[in-house]
Amino acid sequence: MIAPIKIKSTLKEYFGYDQFRPLQEEIIQSIFEGNDNLVIMPTGGGKSICFQLPAILLEGITIVISPLIALMKDQVDGLTTNGIAAAYINSSQSESEQQEIYSKIAANEIKLLYTAPESLSYLEHIFTSQKISLIAIDEAHCISSWGHDFRPAYTNLGYLKNRFPDIPVIALTATADKATREDIANQLNIPNATQHIASFDRKNLKLEVRPANDRITQIINFIEDKPNESGIIYCLSRKATQAVAEKLQAANINAMAYHAGIAHNIRSQIQEDFINDTCQVICATIAFGMGIDKSNVRWVIHYNLPKNIEGYYQEIGRAGRDGLPSDTLLFHSYGDVIQLQKFAQNSGNVDVQLAKLDRMKEYADALSCRRKILLNYFGELISEDCGNCDVCKNPPQFFDGTIIAQKALSAVARLDGQEPIGTVIDVLRGAQNNTIFEKGYQNVKTYGIAKDIAWLDWKQYMTQLINQGYLEIAFHENNKLKLTQFAKDVLFKGKKVDLANLVEAEKVKEKQKAKAPKASKNLLFERLRELRLNIAREEDVPAYQIFNDATLKEMDAERPMSDEEFIQINGVGRKKMENYGYQFIKEIIAFSKEKKPRRTKGETTKKTYELYKQGLSIAEIAQERKLAETTIFSHISKLYDDGKDIDLMQFIGKQDLQSIRDAKETLNDPDTLKAYFEHFEEAIPYSTIRIGLTILSKEN
Ligand code: ADP
Ligand code: ZN
Repeated sequence: MIAPIKIKSTLKEYFGYDQFRPLQEEIIQSIFEGNDNLVIMPTGGGKSICFQLPAILLEGITIVISPLIALMKDQVDGLTTNGIAAAYINSSQSESEQQEIYSKIAANEIKLLYTAPESLSYLEHIFTSQKISLIAIDEAHCISSWGHDFRPAYTNLGYLKNRFPDIPVIALTATADKATREDIANQLNIPNATQHIASFDRKNLKLEVRPANDRITQIINFIEDKPNESGIIYCLSRKATQAVAEKLQAANINAMAYHAGIAHNIRSQIQEDFINDTCQVICATIAFGMGIDKSNVRWVIHYNLPKNIEGYYQEIGRAGRDGLPSDTLLFHSYGDVIQLQKFAQNSGNVDVQLAKLDRMKEYADALSCRRKILLNYFGELISEDCGNCDVCKNPPQFFDGTIIAQKALSAVARLDGQEPIGTVIDVLRGAQNNTIFEKGYQNVKTYGIAKDIAWLDWKQYMTQLINQGYLEIAFHENNKLKLTQFAKDVLFKGKKVDLANLVEAEKVKEKQKAKAPKASKNLLFERLRELRLNIAREEDVPAYQIFNDATLKEMDAERPMSDEEFIQINGVGRKKMENYGYQFIKEIIAFSKEKKPRRTKGETTKKTYELYKQGLSIAEIAQERKLAETTIFSHISKLYDDGKDIDLMQFIGKQDLQSIRDAKETLNDPDTLKAYFEHFEEAIPYSTIRIGLTILSKEN
């Protein structure tokens, strides 16, 4: 059995992190206990560490089965920069390349070996000659035809457990639904696997939906507010990806289109440029993003409505994997709904597809917390509104909309339910166009009775009436708008209808603009980013694999100028410290000498103190300030030292404090945190040691 202390210290040493994310530690423990495990965690939840960390500590080699060659290379590169011996075997390699890896394996020089299910046969001799510590099956939903990514080669994986019943299996996926989950366990022959189902809540993702009016202008404004921040725009068609990219380029935005019709080599180049931050924006069909783990995608826009919530959630999940706040924006239009209805009609599974599309539409039309709806969809109930979606931020105000509703419904009645939304609105507004005159609608009784309401506002009211069940769209009859049973109560029985006030997109934007000053260029952060890019080019790995954005932000805030300070940054492990510490520290020192500091340490701790006094938890302050929790802890210690009213005992257990007290004596009052850290075999994080010592310093 491997002690929890060792697990914690391995996390810091190899991955640079002080704390596990939810469930990671339990999953790792369960692997050490020899169980089979099934892990359901959202994209960005931190699945990889769950098998990578045990692979380091267990005797033998871990086989990782992963569907995409691009992803494999990415993961192996990432492991290598962390000083973990990993390799992959797949059909893209030459025989001699494969031989080289086989000999390393024979010499026990590889801890993790990645392969695609199609290439498993290459590994036959490894299974019979080596000790296999663990079999990890990534993207395990590919085995199930219930899932959305079925891969025939995955169905053969069930035999592994039959042949090697003693090797523990861990299957991982971000697909949540129960049918798929059970299917995975059965097909892999691990019916008794311990299931670990993480929360699907990604709190750092802001959720926003806007009507799809003048999307391009909205997008340009959106991007201009975020200079240098990477983002993806998902479009329904190849044509749209091209068109959007061209319009953004014309506005001087560094954007490229990406879809399956583009030649393979150009596509890989575009993807690589995006990964390395040389291309800022990708306009893509939904296939893009599957094979990449870029952790600093700061925003995702859906130019079109996705066809179901699973897909939508997976796509927005590609933003903010590093845990930093990230934006998501969905444009909603009835045109898209109609288009998607048609696709669904032509699919094999019409009813299911239509029902899923309905749920997507309900989400987009929601007038209550969107995150609740999303999590609810995945079977997770939350009681509180999230505070990080557009509805929570701008809750709708309702008014008595009975008259508006009556006008709309009677117009539909007068038109005998024979016209789509657009024509109904034209009639209500007394439009003078060909359709109206050809059909003689200027003589309809409701013609022009609601000119005072703008066309786009009418559209939103119509949407609300549809969502409240007074109107429905007959998608199979050219989208004619029809009355429902409920409509009669409004038309004939005086039933009251509440409608939500409309928030004009532009107004919201102005409000936001007034609040948030334009993002100013952060000089040290930019310099560290450039340094990172140069190193990445030299080493031919994606930039975010050197350090992710969260780590660079923390360097910027903390300005570590010694090895000891540097290793305390979250995301800096031993290997990266050895490889890159010198260069980054040099850059930070040079910057601090050249420039007047952007802000002094005093100011940054003051900000933390203000938030602390407002009652925010350390996690919330970290989130708000976009800094790591360890950084906030160091501020808190400093504030306490300065005599501020802070109760440090809430951050440290009595036992840890006693251990630190004892160590202080045994170690004879050493002057570095590192000495304590090593004394505890890295089991007590730096931040806790710091808090403990701060308390002790006042004890004497
Ligand atoms: P998934 O495979 O679930 O989509 P990954 O394993 O790629 O997620 O992890 C997403 C990101 O989170 C990566 O950048 C990873 O380094 C980071 N991460 C994972 N575990 C932790 C942790 N305990 N603390 C901080 N960051 C973590
Ligand atoms: Zn909300």
